[in-house]
Amino acid sequence: MSSTPSILAIDQGTTGTTCFVISEDGRILGRAYSEFTQHFPKPGWVEHDAQEIWAVTQSVAREAIAAASEAEVTGVGITNQRETVVLWDRATLEPVHRAIVWQDRRTAVLCANLKEAGHEAEVRRRTGLVLDPYFSGTKLLWLLREHPGLRARAEAGELAAGTIDSWLIAKLTHGRVHATDPTNASRTLLYNLSLAEWDPWLLDMLEIPQALLPEVRASSGDFGTTRGDALGLDVPIAGVAGDQQAALFGQGCWSSGLAKCTYGTGAFLLMHTGERIVPSNHGLLTTAACDSEGGLAFALEGSVFIAGAAIQWLRDGLGILGDASESEAMASGLESNGGVYFVPAFVGLGAPHWMPEARGALFGLTRGTTREHLVRAALEAMAYGTSEVLDAMEADSLTKTTELRVDGGAAKNDWFLGFQAGLSEVPIRRPALVETTALGAAGLAGLETGLWSSAEDFLASQGDATRFASRMPADERESLLAGWTEAVGAVKGLAKSGPQGSRP
Ligand code: ADP
Repeated sequence: MSSTPSILAIDQGTTGTTCFVISEDGRILGRAYSEFTQHFPKPGWVEHDAQEIWAVTQSVAREAIAAASEAEVTGVGITNQRETVVLWDRATLEPVHRAIVWQDRRTAVLCANLKEAGHEAEVRRRTGLVLDPYFSGTKLLWLLREHPGLRARAEAGELAAGTIDSWLIAKLTHGRVHATDPTNASRTLLYNLSLAEWDPWLLDMLEIPQALLPEVRASSGDFGTTRGDALGLDVPIAGVAGDQQAALFGQGCWSSGLAKCTYGTGAFLLMHTGERIVPSNHGLLTTAACDSEGGLAFALEGSVFIAGAAIQWLRDGLGILGDASESEAMASGLESNGGVYFVPAFVGLGAPHWMPEARGALFGLTRGTTREHLVRAALEAMAYGTSEVLDAMEADSLTKTTELRVDGGAAKNDWFLGFQAGLSEVPIRRPALVETTALGAAGLAGLETGLWSSAEDFLASQGDATRFASRMPADERESLLAGWTEAVGAVKGLAKSGPQGSRP
């Protein structure tokens, strides 16, 4: 019997699509996942086949719906890998090129040229971003420059461009709707945060015809209706947000001072700044987010490149632990870190240091150092890195973080979360359901369709969270932070003076 009102949440990620059917009372009634092909045509290039993404998403969505036998799906929410860009024919809905993925570095020279031309400060002021190949704008410019014929078709209005959300909306509505939301738009380099619209100056600089671009609608809003044969449902698409912002919303961070951190391979932090667009002086990005009604709000964003990946390296590279989950008992069994610090700058240092040439190092080793010390140092490093980004966010926004909400694989580690809470002097909350990205998409859609009467109501449906209080004596905190600061300082010093020239 189909009776429990539910939302289909589509989480279209970089390596696969996951779909969830989430009920009014916060239960996951059905779920399915499938990967799709990664294309690496040249070094530094990463592409996806947009038709394959659609085919995989469609079949995973149908599977999740079929698994949720008691559900009555009343709306669809979409969350997606950000920045990846698709260009397609409006009439046939055929992509004209493979999607260029956020990781793709082919526009590095283009970005360097734009920087040299002195555009960076103005781009930062308008978009909150930096001139980096990561964002969609230069990828789109590359397509129009490298493929003659596309520009004329773009200017004639025959083509449509968009991030993955727009592509899925087009396919779900049979091309009736070409739309995106502010959180996705804010990752393109084409969207002006304070005007809340596409920016003619940016379009001009990146030679992008306005006719290519989707309409920007509120994240919780009307994105058209799915057509029967797409999913076997005629229901509204009512929520859209980029993955990090969806997680922020799913975690209930919809007002100033609330922050979330996803501890996976890296650590991805967003701090809500309410209605304020806060420019960063500490190497962070400013980006669109959602308020409690799914309307436009803002956030600061920063990432630590290596977080859980340091534990992975100890497991797979050094073989000193069998499973990541063993790290908890190994770390908590020690009374202290024994003076051992691990700076896992395997791929350079991100925010707030921004030193791509830095490399990792271990400090404070003695004959008494054990594998437990190394594991503990790797866990502590995640906390130090996160603390530095939180400090940068607080310095930029002049706002104290009131609560840090966490998810991702490493957030299963209770010892680590207790350490983080103490080190950063911030209370931590881990939700019962860790699928916060999909939950966010469901929440945004369910607010619009009336499944939940308010954002609070939505959050309450998710059950009990676990809390970690800040409990670390001040002298211990100071001494730990001093040790870390010294270690990072040494790594930075080495990067400046060391043998980088001999590195490949
Ligand atoms: P991603 O989506 O980036 O692949 P996940 O959210 O799946 O990451 O988290 C996996 C990461 O979390 C791995 O890097 C792993 O080392 C780390 N991890 C998993 N469990 C634990 C744990 N109990 N303690 C610390 N780290 C963990």
